[in-house]
Amino acid sequence: MVKKRTIPFTLEQIQTLARSHPTPFYIYDEEGIRNSTRSLFNNFSWNKGFKEYFPIKATPNPEILSILKDEGCCADCCSVPELMLAEGVGLIGESIMLTSNDTGPEEFKMARKMGAIINLDDPNHLAYIEKTAGLPKVLCLRYNPGPFKKKGKLTWRHLTDEKFGMRKDQLFETYKQGTKKGIKRFGLHMMIMSNDLHGEHFVDTARICFDIAVELNRKAGIKLEFIDLGGGIGIPYRPHQKSIDMRTISNKIRTIYNRYSTKKDFPNSRLFMESGRFITGKHGYLVAKVRHIKKSYKNFAGLDASMADLMRPGMYGSYHHISVLGKQSKDPTTIYDVVGSLCENNDKFAINRKLPLLDPGDIIVFHDVGAYGRGKVFDFNGKLRPAEFLLRNDGSFQQIRRAETPQDYFRTICGWKTQKGILKRTS
Ligand SMILES: *Cc1c(COP(=O)(O)O)cnc(C)c1O
Repeated sequence: MVKKRTIPFTLEQIQTLARSHPTPFYIYDEEGIRNSTRSLFNNFSWNKGFKEYFPIKATPNPEILSILKDEGCCADCCSVPELMLAEGVGLIGESIMLTSNDTGPEEFKMARKMGAIINLDDPNHLAYIEKTAGLPKVLCLRYNPGPFKKKGKLTWRHLTDEKFGMRKDQLFETYKQGTKKGIKRFGLHMMIMSNDLHGEHFVDTARICFDIAVELNRKAGIKLEFIDLGGGIGIPYRPHQKSIDMRTISNKIRTIYNRYSTKKDFPNSRLFMESGRFITGKHGYLVAKVRHIKKSYKNFAGLDASMADLMRPGMYGSYHHISVLGKQSKDPTTIYDVVGSLCENNDKFAINRKLPLLDPGDIIVFHDVGAYGRGKVFDFNGKLRPAEFLLRNDGSFQQIRRAETPQDYFRTICGWKTQKGILKRTS
């Protein structure tokens, strides 16, 4: 029952590329990224003013972000470099959102200067931002529904341990505070899922937000200009999983929205989304090479990539599908732990994975690493961060980030530098 995954490049192309640029490296598929963006916009075109704020953290490369901007996306940021990325690709003003959580003054200041929408995570942030950066024009607040349970088939997990968002009483109080301070425009943000393949949760997010919109207008005369439904839509990492049906979700939200629109107090807010994984997740690949096949108590396939290049399996036990380029039609006959070279036993891409018989030199492709792949790399054990390529619509590979060198690794160390490959004290 092995589902064959399509790969937009061939073994020969990778062998050619790897001659000048050694593995491991990431490859993104421009066409796939454009198509998933279009499908999102098409499905939500019924909502006037719909916007997608792509969360930069998912795929933090300006070349990718440029493609997304070209497709009409805005950007969601969480740090100064992410704000710089958004500004760098030409996004301006309210096409940029700063979603705060434990945010510092530099981020607030920069976002204010850029005229970005700032999404506050806690009631205290209002006074804090007023003092450090000045009051924003739009007050957007993040809601956490806490120990919420739905009556129907679905039950939420409790969100009271979640560090994000504020309680409903805090939400209402903070909006009122904002009006007292003279703020006239308002937004609501709620994101309670992560990698969720159950579309109903997203529909429920909308319903909960619409209820808040009605109540806020009725009780406080505050009209929400927009409702940001956040991200969290999952992708089918495992072969037996099914893609979420965006059309069905969108139609359900549309039906509910239209029903609310007939109510007196519903402000017909525009809808925003912050889908990351859904847009880029499926369209990124990590390409690595088998270095050693080791047989001790188990079979180990050791790669030239490690958990430092792809953190998700080691950190969360996440499944990433593996293809062996050129051996896709061979039966998976052998069970391997697919590992990297970190001095750390968590450094496993897959445990007990059935694969075709592997040989040193085989090219391994990890699927679905377009989001939270390269963005989460680290340099433990002196591992150098990998390059990124963009497979353009015309079939060419464009390098969009080079691999790190030892000089890069030592660059931030004070009092030492590398000279002709040797590390030396400078003082
Ligand atoms: C991480 C994050 C997202 C994106 O989540 P996906 O799972 O990639 O859709 C959106 N908004 C906020 C505030 C986030 O923290």
